[in-house]
Amino acid sequence: MAEWMTHARFDGPIVMIGFGSIGRGTLPLILRHIDAPREKMLVIDPDDSARAIAEKEGIRFRKLALTRENLRSELEPLLKNGGFLVNLSVEVSSVALVTLCREWGALYLDTCIEPWPGGYTDPSLSMSQRTNYALREGMRALRRPGHNDPTALIAHGANPGMVSHFVKQALVNLADSLGKDATAPTTREGWSRLAQSLGVKGLHIAERDTQRASRPKEIGEFVNTWSIEGFLSEGMQPAELGFGTHEKALPPDGRRHEFGCDAAIYLARPGCATRVRSWVPSAGPQLAWLITHNESISIADYFTLREGDRVTYRPTCHYAYHPCDDTVLSLHEFEGRAFDRQPRIRLMNDEITDGIDELGVLLYGHGRNAYWFGSQLSIAEARRLAPYQNATGLQVTSAVLAGMVWAIENPRAGVVDADEIDWRRCLEVQMPYLGPVVGAFTDWTPLTNRPGLFAEDVDLDDPWQFRNVIVR
Ligand code: NAD
Repeated sequence: MAEWMTHARFDGPIVMIGFGSIGRGTLPLILRHIDAPREKMLVIDPDDSARAIAEKEGIRFRKLALTRENLRSELEPLLKNGGFLVNLSVEVSSVALVTLCREWGALYLDTCIEPWPGGYTDPSLSMSQRTNYALREGMRALRRPGHNDPTALIAHGANPGMVSHFVKQALVNLADSLGKDATAPTTREGWSRLAQSLGVKGLHIAERDTQRASRPKEIGEFVNTWSIEGFLSEGMQPAELGFGTHEKALPPDGRRHEFGCDAAIYLARPGCATRVRSWVPSAGPQLAWLITHNESISIADYFTLREGDRVTYRPTCHYAYHPCDDTVLSLHEFEGRAFDRQPRIRLMNDEITDGIDELGVLLYGHGRNAYWFGSQLSIAEARRLAPYQNATGLQVTSAVLAGMVWAIENPRAGVVDADEIDWRRCLEVQMPYLGPVVGAFTDWTPLTNRPGLFAEDVDLDDPWQFRNVIVR
């Protein structure tokens, strides 16, 4: 039996909300790597179909849906003297949870900024209010520099989360390969200056999931390798991207917000119907979906340089997600149904036969054109490494573990983004679970082979304009 390294010790209660695909996969990693009393751990979920997974390990399970009304009364007895709240649910407000955890002195971690039900799709909300930008601004309003608040690590899964650490490793690698000083900066401004000096115009969070199942998607079924609810919620938000200083013009349906940091724009259409051109090592050029994600905003914000009020540097940043082929078919059918969800959903797990989740960052516009850096985790290796999850899940759950370890080691950091924490420590904890982690250069640009037989309205002077990336 493998010897697992203990990364941290925690004496207080650990409460996990949500025991879906990510919660189930995270629990065994916590038990392996964090020395904490099992009798003080609790899992909460209204769906108790996986209760046995927790109880087999001696962990209590409570069948309960948390709501606006019961949030305080249910959680206060558990966490009023501190502890760690790990939020891996859908439809429970992250802002409400962070507010309570701060009051109780409890640590907090989630993998996205989740609103209460309806927050993503309520038609009475404006498009701007339904964005991740608005959710992030709401969370950042809780920051109180100098107050020594308990750590609340926000949006620390694979992406958002781990990919912010990949960006830093990729910048160091790129500096080295361009013959520049490859010493890792230690400040936000230092990182921004490094990205600027290397000529990085922007980056994609470039992902290709090639996992395949023995059971193909059926008509009227939406299948995915992780939460279908979670994916459709973010897919129905407006597409969003951090909007860089090299961009010459807003896209025709692009809008700015009238509040907040201004690092990102949104498009007046859902991400699940917005395709972009991108590149990953295994497939090469690919069409992918511009699904909104917290990291598109947080990375663009983190790497922003200003002189006075004037922004002098900011990279464009967005997700370019090619889900597994059966999910692509599911999306196609979903759009054909005018976004009326298929009657049946299926999370792919045991029926997966092969494939990898290739998830990395593609830094572009510099002296060597473009550089991808990331994880190529196969389903076979994921199954060897940890139970109850596929390759997609393990990239996320190992990031949750890394974030928990960092929060335990840094308990008074207040509300923080992935970009603001110790990237080396997180990658050190996560690396054994990521399969091959590789870097690859490419000559491909969004203008490769274009325009072809048909005229196109493209910018031939700068291949990396977002205008060339988006499929119109
Ligand atoms: P899932 O749908 O498999 O599980 C969510 C769980 O939340 C379900 O078991 C559900 O019963 C539970 N839940 C629903 N309402 C609840 C309530 N009111 N109170 C308590 N529990 C409730 O989703 P998942 O794939 O496990 O994803 C969980 C979260 O992680 C989602 O928000 C998702 O967007 C996020 N996620 C982040 C990343 C990342 O890399 N950052 C990746 C995957 C998922």
